[in-house]
Amino acid sequence: MIHPLDQKYSRQMLFKPLGRDGQERLRASSAVLVGCGAIGAAAANLLVRAGIGRLRILDRDFVEASNLQRQSLFNESDAREALPKAIAAERNLRAINSDVQIEGIVADLTPRNAVELLSAFPLILDGTDNFETRFLINDLAVKSSTPWVYAAAVASYGLSFTILPGKTACLACLLDSSGGAGLEETCDTIGVLGPIVNLIASLEVAEAMKILAGRPAALHGRLISCDVWSGRIQSVLPERDPQCQVCVQHQFSYLAGEAQPHITMCGRDSVQIHERSRSLDLKALQERLASTVSDVRQNGFLLRFLIPPYEMTVFSDGRAILKGTKDPAVARSLYAKYIGA
Ligand SMILES: [Zn+2]
Repeated sequence: MIHPLDQKYSRQMLFKPLGRDGQERLRASSAVLVGCGAIGAAAANLLVRAGIGRLRILDRDFVEASNLQRQSLFNESDAREALPKAIAAERNLRAINSDVQIEGIVADLTPRNAVELLSAFPLILDGTDNFETRFLINDLAVKSSTPWVYAAAVASYGLSFTILPGKTACLACLLDSSGGAGLEETCDTIGVLGPIVNLIASLEVAEAMKILAGRPAALHGRLISCDVWSGRIQSVLPERDPQCQVCVQHQFSYLAGEAQPHITMCGRDSVQIHERSRSLDLKALQERLASTVSDVRQNGFLLRFLIPPYEMTVFSDGRAILKGTKDPAVARSLYAKYIGA
């Protein structure tokens, strides 16, 4: 009888540095992916096809038509249904490889829930789109000595670097020395191309596979950056900052939560209202709103309605995303009026 691993993963097992032993270790391994947008979706796809044992996917957002150009795991039906990305990812990945335990969680990673959501996993993968969340991951990873892979892309440019706490530089070592230039640019302001996203996810997952398959000696330790438009590719060995506040001085200010505001920017013309784990009954809310606002829709995971010129999307954990404004005061007042103070 042919062993099931031989059938499914034969091309991966023929690759000598992995072999059967690497495949079996991969199957016994787990990782958590924070953010399932473009890089996250591509990374999840590769990891699940490679035969990781268990993958947890956290994402706070829902699928929209403007995502489909680069977010390779989603389709038009997910966008029409406005499915949360974590849920759509879980469904679509199950159809790709039913051997993998996949757990999609609709949540925003915050100092309050980070330990609970991440600490059971030996590897954290970056699929986020913002530095606040990355610094939070970095704090938790360094504090708990958990490896994590940083990955980011914008326009035609992207980079990836694997952080082994105590051994390599951490994110704070990297960004303090570069001064954080260019961090304000996001996909929502200057766009992003599908090819760079998939390239960066590939670099990220190749490193993840070395860790998960028990091949740490194969990690290249380099920060690789690429621009698919200009063809420029750089590979450097970052040094640790001997004064680093995080990996040397162990000051975990993001994890301590002081930096977390109640309302944050979220894309070009949206704000996110974080609520303190307040559980909402979406069905009851839908009934209550039906008489006062237009176009109330609910799909079991989120509820969305229009208050022209705004569109509000509310999640069952009390979080909301208000589209059509950058003004926290408008968001606060609409949230209080329609959801509750
Ligand atoms: Zn550091």
